[in-house]
Amino acid sequence: MTTDSKTSDLGLRTSDLKVDYSACVRCGTCLAGCPTYEELKDESFSPRGRVALGSSLDSGRLPVSAGTGRHFSTCLLCLACEANCPNGVKTESIILGSRRILQEKKGIPLLKRAAFKNVLGSSISRRAIFPFLPAAKILKNREGRLKPWQVLKPFLYKIDPERSYPLPDIKDTPEINLPPLEAGRPRIFIFSGCLGDIFYPRIREAAVSLIRKTRAGVILPRERICCGLPLSAGGDEKGARALARRNLEIISRYQPDLIVSPCPSCARFLKGELPRLLEEDSLALEIGKKVVDLSEYLVSKPDLLPRPEKKLSGLLTYHDPCHLARGMGISKEPRSLLSRLPGIDLSEHTERSRCCGFGGSFAFEHYDLSRRIQAKKVESLAQTGAGLVVTSCPGCIFQIEDGLIRAGKPMKVAHLYEVLDNPPNSKSK
Ligand code: SF4
Ligand code: SF4
Repeated sequence: MTTDSKTSDLGLRTSDLKVDYSACVRCGTCLAGCPTYEELKDESFSPRGRVALGSSLDSGRLPVSAGTGRHFSTCLLCLACEANCPNGVKTESIILGSRRILQEKKGIPLLKRAAFKNVLGSSISRRAIFPFLPAAKILKNREGRLKPWQVLKPFLYKIDPERSYPLPDIKDTPEINLPPLEAGRPRIFIFSGCLGDIFYPRIREAAVSLIRKTRAGVILPRERICCGLPLSAGGDEKGARALARRNLEIISRYQPDLIVSPCPSCARFLKGELPRLLEEDSLALEIGKKVVDLSEYLVSKPDLLPRPEKKLSGLLTYHDPCHLARGMGISKEPRSLLSRLPGIDLSEHTERSRCCGFGGSFAFEHYDLSRRIQAKKVESLAQTGAGLVVTSCPGCIFQIEDGLIRAGKPMKVAHLYEVLDNPPNSKSK
């Protein structure tokens, strides 16, 4: 990527990308952990291959075409390659930078842009459209899941006939702004995230309840919009910056002490990307520093969470979301919190660092590849004999639920917040 600072007509500052292709010595250590290389067995779909292609694209040696775009759009941004690289190659930045170059030339698909910018990125559109989504329940199948292919195929972006969806469960929650119940406790802002807002509002309700149990203040704004990650990951930096600006305004209004999100991809974006996109605004850096995972906060307050009243028993396994474990370095904290639940046993699955195959838009654009990666994760989870899969990301829940149904496994999936707030008696073995 070029290192001199220049601004394109889309507002992309290429100096921000700060990537060094020459750091890649082509050793191939990263190939072993890459889920897309594992499935496709093709160097050009490996991290090493994408670094080489990114360099060629950046220097103009590789043409902008749909074929070129596929090498970058099939990356899950799972960070496994960065974790394995001995030379610290910033593969994620190279892939995102390449997507931006492609997007500048080809543009982002119209429906994708409209979905994230004009619907999920606007609180007015969300309030106008969301109340109608529960009507989609008329399309549910015998398992109570949505298979909207036949009816909605002409209208929806890359819907796959085989994927099933949970039913939308949209609740227009009024603003929550409760002060701490005890002096010295923080005021914690919840950024609920789009997927959780549409399909799993129970997760943000569990977050509110958990935070209250620690006697902290809790803020859940009524105005909830997309963080900007899907646009940024698709290469639309200008669109992502506009959403980051709006989110900065919303969060700053409440002056929270801490910011948490049930979605680690949103949290990581608010923590790292929002300050980068709005670098001219010192407030953005301050907001980024306040972002933590709720498990980090809860682990530091072990005596504040009440012990469960009912007797528990069960076996569960924990799936690490890529953007939480590799992106934010949080993997011990959720396990520590789960191990404190009396009567609950944690069984680790063999492939605990394997991506579930979701990857945001990836799961819709490349469902066939996504479900091959998903199948390996599901098999590994099922081998534990646990009755419940716990994770810390609505996207992983969405993906793993689909995989379990597809594989006919009777396991349930829940968010860590739900399990801590209302520990289950999970059937097992
Ligand atoms: S990205 Fe890192 S691990 Fe992969 S080939 Fe290059 S130097 Fe080796
Ligand atoms: S981020 Fe994941 S999918 Fe993308 S190149 Fe790296 S290991 Fe492969």
